[in-house]
Amino acid sequence: MPDRNVKARRMVADQLAPRGITDTHVLRAMESVPREEFVAPGQREDAYADHPLPIGAGQTISQPYIVAMMLQAAEIAPSDRVLEIGAGSGYAAAVASRIAASVCAVERIGELARAATGVLTRLGYDNVEIRHDDGTRGWPDGGSFDAILVAAAGPDIPAPLLAQLAPGGRLVMPVGPIGAPQRLVRIRRTAQGDQREDMGAVVFVPLIGAAGYADDDAPPR
Ligand code: SAH
Repeated sequence: MPDRNVKARRMVADQLAPRGITDTHVLRAMESVPREEFVAPGQREDAYADHPLPIGAGQTISQPYIVAMMLQAAEIAPSDRVLEIGAGSGYAAAVASRIAASVCAVERIGELARAATGVLTRLGYDNVEIRHDDGTRGWPDGGSFDAILVAAAGPDIPAPLLAQLAPGGRLVMPVGPIGAPQRLVRIRRTAQGDQREDMGAVVFVPLIGAAGYADDDAPPR
């Protein structure tokens, strides 16, 4: 069995299952996506390690557990249309694309958006589209989404993202100050209105954009 499969299976068994990741779609998708393709060349050995890794431009690929936890919180079903804000390396979008019907992902740093598109094309993941833009505006011409994941922390949930959430949809996003623990928030759109849940403390890089933090608020990199 190739080394990659062993590492991916160990990641699922040691980092995900014991911490409460039970959604079999998420566990299978996390095992199937080659995480080493999304990290910097010098980091491939460490690709499955239990921590975030640098991906260039001062950004990081999230720790595997955080990716799995957010995907599980978003309750993604095979027929879902998913929107991710903060595509970074494209890894979380790739994992989501193994569960959902399609994934649209937005990244504000052009060099990351281009690299992510390159990897996804090379792997043949053709139900994912990455756009270079300010994701606090969402994906304006894309209709509504069953699940929206935001991989960067903002001062509040951007109104355009709420406007693009489908009935029954789930939005998962870290909300809080830059560089300090933030709260992971889940919004569930029900017939009775939007329900907001606090899913615990997290630390994410800042969401920078029209409905996020200003560029100057971000820590130097
Ligand atoms: N999901 C990524 C992790 C990305 S880290 C992965 O799997 O690799 C968060 C990303 O959010 C960074 O790449 C950062 O550039 C991006 N980001 C921050 N503000 C943004 C915005 N307004 N729109 C789109 N992307 C944004």
